[in-house]
Amino acid sequence: MSESNSQINSQINSQINSQLTLNRALRVAVIGAGPSGFYAAEALIKQEDMDVSVDIFDRLPAPYGLVRYGVAPDHQKIKSVTRMFDRTISHERVRYFGNVEFGKDLSHADMRKHYDAVVYTVGASSDRSLNIAGEDLAGSISATEFVAWYNGHPDYKDFVPNLDAESVVVVGMGNVAVDVCRILAKTADELQAESDIADHAIEALRASNVKDIYMLGRRGPAQAKFTTKELRELTELSNADLIIDPADLELDAVSEASLENDNNSKNNIKVMRQFLEEAATAESPEPKPRRLHLKFLVSPKELLGDAEVNAVRLEKNRLEDDNGYLNAVGTGEMQDIAAAMVMRSVGYRGVPLADVPFNERRGTIPNVEGRVTDTEGNVITGEYTAGWIKRGPSGVIGTNKADAIESMQKLLEDVASLTLVENADADPSSVEKLLASKGIRYVRFDDWKHIDALELKAGEEQGRPRVKFVSVEEMLELCEPVT
Ligand code: NAP
Repeated sequence: MSESNSQINSQINSQINSQLTLNRALRVAVIGAGPSGFYAAEALIKQEDMDVSVDIFDRLPAPYGLVRYGVAPDHQKIKSVTRMFDRTISHERVRYFGNVEFGKDLSHADMRKHYDAVVYTVGASSDRSLNIAGEDLAGSISATEFVAWYNGHPDYKDFVPNLDAESVVVVGMGNVAVDVCRILAKTADELQAESDIADHAIEALRASNVKDIYMLGRRGPAQAKFTTKELRELTELSNADLIIDPADLELDAVSEASLENDNNSKNNIKVMRQFLEEAATAESPEPKPRRLHLKFLVSPKELLGDAEVNAVRLEKNRLEDDNGYLNAVGTGEMQDIAAAMVMRSVGYRGVPLADVPFNERRGTIPNVEGRVTDTEGNVITGEYTAGWIKRGPSGVIGTNKADAIESMQKLLEDVASLTLVENADADPSSVEKLLASKGIRYVRFDDWKHIDALELKAGEEQGRPRVKFVSVEEMLELCEPVT
């Protein structure tokens, strides 16, 4: 057992022994079957001296949230974390209820009636806007939409990105921007062979006209948010030349000094410099069919076009030191880049849940170390949150583990003060009965494993990791009827 879990255990022991005699398992609902939901469930069932039973709900039939619908389809290794999630969900005290939407199929009041505690782990399903003129033109989309589309998210199966565009602009320099640029740059054959990208996306990408992809950073190369492993992949694309202006790597003194304390940026700069050195000394190779341009120190000011975007107006920036943080400041120098598709990739954003407090500015559920609070900061007993909807959209999948453990530690510390639900309402069958009475066709874990097996089999037949079902109806048809 990890140290943090044994710490939780000893805390919970003293709480239970001194204050509470619970003659049944503590009933916890986890809303959202993404990484933070699974890590929260895992932290709860790992308790050795107290029975906690966990019901995990997701509005989609398939579990795993961002791992299935966010992680790039050609990054299969990252997706292997689902094997661990499966162990959690297969535990005797964990149940899965897919295709059940909080706020629609089950209300906040339903949850509070049937569970001693509720944990919100719904992630951040929307995105931040640029707030510039022309952002609503056709052809201006978010990376969130594009990612969900190529990953086969049921809500985006009919989405149509403009792949007739020869020139595409991607705004932002985080790992999501790198993912979408890489997907745009690779050949359809590469993607098909090595990924579980949705069939509709392969088809569309096979017919793609994209030649130039511009990834825009409002600050310099030393401030880019992407990680070095992801950058390195861009230097190794078989179908696209990476274009970086060597002048951009002549860093200002503050940026150069900032590398001292920032290993990722230091390695990024090293990789970019090495890449340019090798490119300068290499014999002129055949140009590749596509070009991926990294453009630093530019901000989009306006998207141009009548009904459809056809260009982006950029302003050149300079860096200004604000107490050690290097801000991008416009210089007034403008430049237009032609682009028939513009994708903003400037961060995800959480969306509010019905009857749950929400911090509009941050796009998160207000909380103190995972305990949900109202907008005045008063803790709401029995409600918790973890993951991106708790802290905002940052960090890798694994970051959510420590985050969920922190929140569940608070839940377990609070056990003695929770308002426990009536024993009849805590009966595990009561939720099933409620769903049945509402006519909700929920998906159990066994149903999901059946769908999963079919996806894997279809993948095997095509020499691919898996072939995804993208329609909810199709998935529901494969499930055993709930009796
Ligand atoms: P991110 O890492 O926060 O990057 C957002 C980017 O958008 C930054 O370059 C930021 O620039 C820029 N930006 C923000 N507002 C802007 C504006 N108004 N105009 C122009 N640029 C703007 O977010 P993300 O790429 O969405 O990734 C979210 C999280 O998921 C990150 O922690 C990421 O590492 C993780 N992730 C990991 C992987 C992986 O491990 N392979 C893959 C995908 C995502 P500034 O720095 O100037 O603010």
